[in-house]
Order: sequence, then structure tokens, then C-alpha cells
Amino acid sequence: MTTSPTGPELSGPLFGAGEPPISSLPVREGPSFESLDPRTGDVVGVHAIHSAEEVEAAVERSRLAAIWWRDIGFEGRKEFLLQWRSVITRRLAQLSQLVHLETGKPHGDAQLEIGLAIDHVNWAAKNAKKVLGATSVSSGVFAINHASSVRYNPLGVVGVIGPWNYPVFTPLGSITYALAAGNGVVFKPSEYTPGVGRWLVDTFTEVVGGRPVLQLVTGYGETGAALCRAGVDKVAFTGSANTGKRVMAACAENLVPVVIEAGGKDSVIVDEDADLAAAAEGALWSGMSNAGQTCIGAERVYVHRAVFEPFMAELLEQARTVTAHAANDSLIGPITMPSQLEVIQRHIDDAIAKGGRVVLGGAGAVGERFVQPTIITHVPEDSAAITEETFGPTLVVNPVDDMDEAVQLTNATEYGLAGSVYGKRRAVSIAERVRSGMTSINAVAMFAGVPSLPFGGVGQSGFGRIHGPDGLREFTYAKAITRQRFKPLLNLTSMQRDEATDKNAALLINLLYGGRKTLR
Ligand code: NAD
Repeated sequence: MTTSPTGPELSGPLFGAGEPPISSLPVREGPSFESLDPRTGDVVGVHAIHSAEEVEAAVERSRLAAIWWRDIGFEGRKEFLLQWRSVITRRLAQLSQLVHLETGKPHGDAQLEIGLAIDHVNWAAKNAKKVLGATSVSSGVFAINHASSVRYNPLGVVGVIGPWNYPVFTPLGSITYALAAGNGVVFKPSEYTPGVGRWLVDTFTEVVGGRPVLQLVTGYGETGAALCRAGVDKVAFTGSANTGKRVMAACAENLVPVVIEAGGKDSVIVDEDADLAAAAEGALWSGMSNAGQTCIGAERVYVHRAVFEPFMAELLEQARTVTAHAANDSLIGPITMPSQLEVIQRHIDDAIAKGGRVVLGGAGAVGERFVQPTIITHVPEDSAAITEETFGPTLVVNPVDDMDEAVQLTNATEYGLAGSVYGKRRAVSIAERVRSGMTSINAVAMFAGVPSLPFGGVGQSGFGRIHGPDGLREFTYAKAITRQRFKPLLNLTSMQRDEATDKNAALLINLLYGGRKTLR
């Protein structure tokens, strides 16, 4: 493939036989649904509810185009992905507005999430070859006459099922890495953010000259379930743990592997030697930004008893100006998914009923569309606000006697996604003891902005990784190759192998590994 000033020249079949040059399934008569502005309830767009047959057709279209995409190699894909990066960047304001409309989050937050996603597109494009390309490895003693190498091949077509809370950053963590690895992708965005999904698929398709490498399917859970059964080679799911279980069950029918990026119950741990102003700033932002609808957002704060009072004073002082309302300058937006209001209300009520002390917001903080920031202290550890994902602008802040207790309580949840530690002397050792996929020290969520780091959790937060080298390998299969360079001294894989060869093989094994004394 050659590169022109306007980008790589296209070669190979453009579309599957008889297929139109469009990214998404044709606009057609049939069932549809509306995407709404959660601040007002206004209709933002109308999208198709795609049937199982339409989803299968999208997978087939992507499969054909993916052959071309695979065959242009790392360098070819890099050119297209970097072009896509630039297109997203140039149209940042347009995409931010769409994210703002469909999620209700402030423009600045939308821009931040898109900016981080762009950095990932850039990283995946530039590093796929180094991470996935053929690499020589040592052949060891038995195959000393062979050259050994490993490369990571694309799986085929990856189904990506996304959530609404970060409708650009989150799905692109799978889509970009799957594409960079050479796969076709069929993307099912959340029913709350289909317009953002369409925008992403349409811009990529524009960049690759209309080839349907990345396809869009829209609809509710049934469309997602259909994608799991549509012949894809892997499913990357981001959403709640409960839906993740349904996705796994559907994928199990055909032994389709899955990545599950599910929820969390992250904590911020504040040690006695922490910078309290910084810790309060981080905990507040992590808990309240995006109206608390962040998988890696803080929901719990464990503070060393020695600094609990001054920490709370800082936190409340900084929280004073944070309110949620419909105007464009609101620091936090509405609750995007109306059904979540009930969950948030239940968690607040339960925490208060069990003896929690409300220091901000409280039972009346939950409105029809907006929830005002709520901070509750001394909440018993068996409260729903501690054991379940709240997904609202709430923080539970509890004092702890020491950092062992902070780690033990942090790890007591069934989730294990991310978290933060604020402190000096012990911060790294505390971070290492937290059972989660990611921890930031003296900051919040910074790991998400480091493209070379893996992103994912343990326990009910899921498994598998997006981002970084692990995220690229997630969408491949390892292929091992050995090549004989010269005839072996001991021919072990022959029907003519004789007694002398077996004796020499035994001698060799003994020489190599028989030296260490038995432990008593
Ligand atoms: P959700 O589980 O309700 O939906 C996620 C997606 O799954 C949607 O596209 C939905 O249509 C689809 N879906 C629903 N039922 C399905 C089924 N039976 N089969 C296949 N697909 C189906 O989650 P949500 O409300 O959109 O997102 C919020 C959740 O996502 C929170 O728990 C949050 O913590 C989590 N999340 C996790 C990460 C992460 O990286 N770990 C990132 C963002 C959000």
C-alpha cells in the first residue's frame, strides 16, 4: 500500500458483494427507538432496533471487509487509524456536543473523555506492530536447532457492547485496540447513546473509504444478545456485572471468548501524612464528576482517624460550590439513566437508617433528573452504599484506625476495579495491597490516561484487559512457529529413535535439571 498526501491509497475489494457503501445498517422501515437529552427529555435522534438477522448481516459485512483490513498489515492500519485520530480531533466540538446532548454531561467533561480516547487511538496505531508483530524467542535446549517466534494474529470480527456513561472513551478502549490488531468490529452502543456510536462508526468508515470494517448495530439488550450469537470471534462488553453475566451465558453457547469490563466500588484511601487539600480535591472530583456515573469513580473514602476532621473540613469547603442543574455551566449533569435515581435514593436512605451522618445533601438530594452532591460519614460497612455500586454523586467517608484497616475494608467488596491512595511513606505499599486492577497514588484515575497501561478489574468488576500491550493482545490469538535450522544431534521425533538416543536424552535431562538437592 502507498501513502498519498490525503492518506493511504485504497486497494482491494471495497465492500462485500452487493453491499452499499455505508457503515451502519441501511436506514429502513421497522422498529426504532428515540435517544433523549436526559436534562430535558427532548428527543435527540431516532435509531433502528436491529433484529438478530440484521446483526448477523452486519457481522458478515465486517468479516469480508476485515480480510482487506487484516491484509494491509500494521503499517496500513496505522495510517488509517492515525487519520481517524485526526478526524476525531478536528471535529472534537461536534462530538462533544453530541456526548453532551445524549448523556447530559458538561462539555468540558465530554471533551476530556474524547481527548483521552484520541490518545489511545494514537497509541494503539503506533504500537500494534511492536506488540503483536513476529518476535524471536529463545528455543531452549531441546529445540536448539530451531528458530522460534511468536506473533499475535487477529481473531476475525469482534463484537463490542458499550455503556452510556463514557460513550466515547469506553467503547474506543475496545474498538481501537481490536482494529489496530487487525480485526473487524461490530459495535452496539448503549441505547442511551446511539448517536455517539453512529458518529464514531461513520467517521471511521469515511476514513477507510466506505469499507464496512467497523459496523454499527443499535437497539436494546436484545440487539446486544443477538450480537453475542451472531458468529463473532470475541465479545468485549462494558456495562454492569449483571448484564455481563448474561453476555457470558450467551457467548458460552458457541464458546465465544469475552472481555468483561463491569462496575466498581472504588475507594480513596487517605493516610495520616497525605496532602489533605489534594486528597479532598481528588476524592470530590472522583466521586462527583459525571454525576458519579463513573465505573472508576470513588464511592467510598477511608481516612486515617488522626486526620479525619481536617480532611472533612477540606472536603466540605471544596464541595460547597458543586451543584447539579440543567444550565450549560453546571459542574455536574443529570442522572442519564432514570432508573438509577431509585438506586441512589435507596442507598442514601439505607445509609441514614443504619446510622450514617449526612454532612452534605441527603435524603432530599434526589430530584426528578438531577441528584445534588451527597456526603455521608460513619456509614456501617453492611450498608448498600458500601456494598453495592451506587452510580450517583455520593461519597461515603469513614474513619479508620490504620492503613491495614483501610486496605481490609477496601478489599472487602466483591468488586475490584480501581481506586486511589493519598499519602507519602506508605502509599506504594498500600496501593500494592489493594485488590483491584488499577490504583493512582496522590491523584485519581490517572491510569486511564496512560495508554501503555492495562485497564480492567478483578472479581465482579470483570476480567480481561483493554489499553496497552495487554489490550492489544486481548483481541488476538498467539501463534507460535518453530523453524528447523539444522538437523538435530538427538532426533527425538522419529520412529527410528533408538535406545542410545533415549539414553542420551535421559543423560541430558539429568545434566540439565538433576543437580538441585531435594528439600528436607
Ligand atoms: P448495562 O449493563 O445496563 O448495559 C451495557 C450494554 O449492554 C448496553 O449496550 C445494553 O444495551 C447491553 N445489554 C443489555 N442487556 C444485554 C444482554 N442481555 N446481552 C447483551 N447486551 C446487553 O450497563 P450501563 O448502564 O450501560 O453502564 C453502566 C455500568 O457500566 C456500570 O456498572 C459501570 O460501572 C459499568 N462501566 C464499566 C466500565 C469499565 O471499564 N469497567 C466502564 C464504563 C461503565
